[in-house]
Amino acid sequence: MLKVVKRLQRIGRRAREIIVSRIDGGKPCGTCGFKGRPLHRDVLWPGLMTEWELTPQWHRWMDEREGSRCAWCGSSLRSGQLAAAIVTAANRLSGSSASRRSTLFRDPKARALSIAEINSAGNLHRHLRRCPGLRFSEFGSTQQGVPSEDLMRLTYADASFDIVITSDTLEHVPNIGPALRETCRVLKPGGMHVFTVPIIWDRPTRQRATIQGGALTHLLPPSYHGVAQEGKTDFLVFNEFGADFVDLCTAAGLDVELMQDAVNPALVTFMARRTAMP
Ligand SMILES: [Zn+2]
Repeated sequence: MLKVVKRLQRIGRRAREIIVSRIDGGKPCGTCGFKGRPLHRDVLWPGLMTEWELTPQWHRWMDEREGSRCAWCGSSLRSGQLAAAIVTAANRLSGSSASRRSTLFRDPKARALSIAEINSAGNLHRHLRRCPGLRFSEFGSTQQGVPSEDLMRLTYADASFDIVITSDTLEHVPNIGPALRETCRVLKPGGMHVFTVPIIWDRPTRQRATIQGGALTHLLPPSYHGVAQEGKTDFLVFNEFGADFVDLCTAAGLDVELMQDAVNPALVTFMARRTAMP
């Protein structure tokens, strides 16, 4: 009985959140299209802020990017924007005309796309898996049928994909140049690498760690991403990207277009088109 009461209370709280969010209004969620004010909780922890040396303003922007979520589907603002960029890329590449991710793969043209989701793009995966041409992998996967791909040495053949997706992944790759050249290699000519990375636009890229000759070397004290509250701080940061990151993409053979928020510069998604063979 107590369980039932608690469940009803949870449903009531959730319904109230959704209604208040809808009344307050906001931009449509990039994932589900729900128009409402995002719900916010701080997600960045003090230790990470110290390591990253963010100004209070950049701290707020980064917190909003990851901690503000759609009241309906739970997508972060970052995931919602990544979803919108994937829809834009898919429409351009296939000639489909979807307005949001949840309806994209009802269109046969979009269903014909070949897509590599290199690591799970969170709650976007449940939409992506509707695409018959999806190749899904996950870092450190032990799940049958789900391979683990190394971004610096992808197992896919040249020119395999229309779209490659990575979601806040590239900062955890030891050597960024080879990783970008690999995504370029597996893209078809004109194909797009659609991705997010944390990026601070008013400073240059800072390398925190490197692997040379198989040995991990820390150039700065180790910094990890993950969810501190859940003890999941297990992703070592190799690079904190800055404004020069776009040049790294260009050097790898990718022509960068940015989807940017009008107010928050931390809220940005890269749509990088393969221009030439690396
Ligand atoms: Zn949503």
